[in-house]
Amino acid sequence: MNPPSTIAIDGPAASGKTTLALALARHLGYLYFDTGVMYRAVTLAALKRGIDINDDDAVSSTARTISVDVLPPTVDDGRPCTVLLDGEDVTWAIREPEIDAQVSIPSMYRGVREALTIIQRQIAARGEVVMVGRDIGTVVLPDADLKIYLDASVEERARRRWEENHLHGTDGSLEAVLDAMKNRDKLDSERDIAPLRPADDAVVIDNTNLSIPEVIEQVIQLIEGR
Ligand code: C5P
Repeated sequence: MNPPSTIAIDGPAASGKTTLALALARHLGYLYFDTGVMYRAVTLAALKRGIDINDDDAVSSTARTISVDVLPPTVDDGRPCTVLLDGEDVTWAIREPEIDAQVSIPSMYRGVREALTIIQRQIAARGEVVMVGRDIGTVVLPDADLKIYLDASVEERARRRWEENHLHGTDGSLEAVLDAMKNRDKLDSERDIAPLRPADDAVVIDNTNLSIPEVIEQVIQLIEGR
């Protein structure tokens, strides 16, 4: 086996990226790094500072000045990693529906993407990383050794996110989650810079009708067959 040193996993919200990436990182002993938390932290920072989310310059300058640390879980409460924003634990705060609803706006700004992409490339340069996002295979790590694009129907993804929200005690109807997800998909895939799409050399896996263990097994076989 010649395991890939850098693995890029992209796809829309709730397509199973985190579960797959965590399983691969554990299997290979690699670092798991979710780039979505960085865009979420910028959004939270801008909201906390009372910055208008539509103000590209102000939000981009926020992205350049905050410090976001992503650590292995520091609390055993089901979190895949701990996220610190200027030293404060915001792991769950960045998962609130308000952030879900707004995060795709800062993600459109060139200044925000440039600031975060630099950090993401520095982390990946150390190798042995499973990096998760929307543009990892296309923009952040175009030379990644293995690129996976996970997809599933928007109805199935909304159902999964709604179930997750309920586990964490967040209220809201399935319809509201579905609407928010369709809106986020549209903004993420239609933006000018680094839109969500599979890289030409990505392995595309639609898991609408697959269980997560089946997807994990499929990707591990892919890696072991190399
Ligand atoms: O993956 P997650 O749902 O946490 O991502 C939140 C948002 O961050 C996405 O909807 C997208 O707008 C943005 N994002 C991005 N590029 C990435 C990762 C996330 O634009 N590499």
